[in-house]
Amino acid sequence: MKILVLNSGSSSLKYQLIDSESEEVLAKGLAERIGAAGGGGKIKHECVANGKAELDVDMADHAEAIDHVFAMLKDPEVGAVKSMDEISAVGHRVLHGGEKFVQPTLVNEEVVREVEKLSDLGPLHNPANAKGIRACMKLMPNVPQVAVFDTAFHATMPDYAYTYALPYKYYTDYGIRRYGFHGTSHRFVTSQALKMLKSMNVDPAASRIITCHLGNGSSMAAVVGGKVMDTSMGVTPAEGLMMGTRCGDIDPAILTYLGKKLNATPEDLDDLINKKSGLLGVSGVSSDMRDVENSANEGNKRSKLALAIFCYRIRKYIGAYTAAMGGLDAIVFTGGIGENSNTIRARICEDMDFFGIKIDADKNNKLRGPADISEDGSKVRILLIPTNEERVIARETVQVVTGSNESV
Ligand code: AMP
Repeated sequence: MKILVLNSGSSSLKYQLIDSESEEVLAKGLAERIGAAGGGGKIKHECVANGKAELDVDMADHAEAIDHVFAMLKDPEVGAVKSMDEISAVGHRVLHGGEKFVQPTLVNEEVVREVEKLSDLGPLHNPANAKGIRACMKLMPNVPQVAVFDTAFHATMPDYAYTYALPYKYYTDYGIRRYGFHGTSHRFVTSQALKMLKSMNVDPAASRIITCHLGNGSSMAAVVGGKVMDTSMGVTPAEGLMMGTRCGDIDPAILTYLGKKLNATPEDLDDLINKKSGLLGVSGVSSDMRDVENSANEGNKRSKLALAIFCYRIRKYIGAYTAAMGGLDAIVFTGGIGENSNTIRARICEDMDFFGIKIDADKNNKLRGPADISEDGSKVRILLIPTNEERVIARETVQVVTGSNESV
C-alpha cells in the first residue's frame, strides 16, 4: 500500500509518500509560506527514485498547497505515482487529541469537528491539522483519512501524574490536565527499545525506561512495561524541559508578575514562553542547539549557561522518573539533539554511577543508532535510537484501514 503522511503546520505542510510493505520513502517534501501575506511560497520536493524539484508558487491555503503537492507527486519527471488512485490512505499528524482520541482514528466529519474543537488546547497546531484533513477529504473523497494524535501514547498516565493541583473544576470544565506530546516518537523509540532490551534479557513487560526526545521541542517520558506513566509536557507543549524557544518548567507566578510589570496581554505572555524563551532566550544567540554549542565553545557565557540548564533539567527528570518508576532499566536518546550531539548525551549521563548509569565514551562518540552506548557493566542501558514519526503514522494508518493490530 502507498500511504501519504501529512503534517500540516500553521503555514507549512510536510509530506512523505511511504510504501507500507517495504517502509521505503518514495517521495517527500515541504510546502512553506502557505497563506503568507507577502507571498513567496515554495515547495521543495524529492522523489527518491527520480530526483528533486523546487516550485515557487503562492498558496492561499492548505487546499491549494495540497493540490500542488499532488501535482508534484504525479509529475512525469519527479513524481512517484501515475495517478492519485494509487494512494490507499492518508495519515495525518494531529497535535491534540484531548481525552477523546487515544487511538489513531478513521476520519469523518464528526472527527474533524472534534479536532477543530480541540483547538482551544492546541491553538497553534489543531486548526492547521484540521485544514489539512479537510483539504484531503475534498480532493480525495474516496480515500480513507486517518488522524494520528501526538497525545495518544500518553493516555495511560495515572490520574496522580496527569492532574494539576489546581481547583478540580478546571479539569472537569476545561480539560486542564497533563496530556503530553511527541507521542508518536516516544511510542516508536519505546517499541524499538523494548525489542533491544528483550535481546539483553530484560523482560519488556516489567521494563522501566526513560525516553528522551530532544529536538527543537523536547520532552521525556517514564515508560513502565511499554506504557507511559508520566511525561514532561503538559496541557500544552510548553511544560517540562528547556527547548529551542520554549521555557519549560517555571514558577507559574512569574506569569502574573511579568503580566503586571509589562502590562502584557495573555497573547504576549504566550509568545514569551513559547517563542522567546529556552535556548534562544537564555543564550540570546539562537534556538538551534548547534549554534548554541558553537558559541559556548567560543566562550560565550550565556550560551554556556543555556547548555548547563538544558542538561541539568534533563538530569533532574531522570532522577524524578527513576524514583517514580522505582528503578530504571534503560534511557533512550532520540530527536535531532538526542541523536546527534554526543557531547550533550555525555553531559547528561556524567557522574550517574550511583544510578547504575555508565556511558561508554567511545561508543557514544562513534556509534549511530540504533545502538547501545552504555559501558558493558552498566546496570542501566543507554540506547541511541533514531526516531521516525512518519513511519509510525504510516503503520498506524495501515492498521486502521486494514483493521490489523500489529505493534508499532
Ligand atoms: P529536531 O527538532 O528533532 O529536528 O531537532 C532539531 C535540533 O537538533 C536543533 O536544535 C539542532 O541544532 C539539533 N541538532 C541537529 N544536529 C545536531 C548536532 N550534530 N549537534 C547538536 N545538535 C544538533
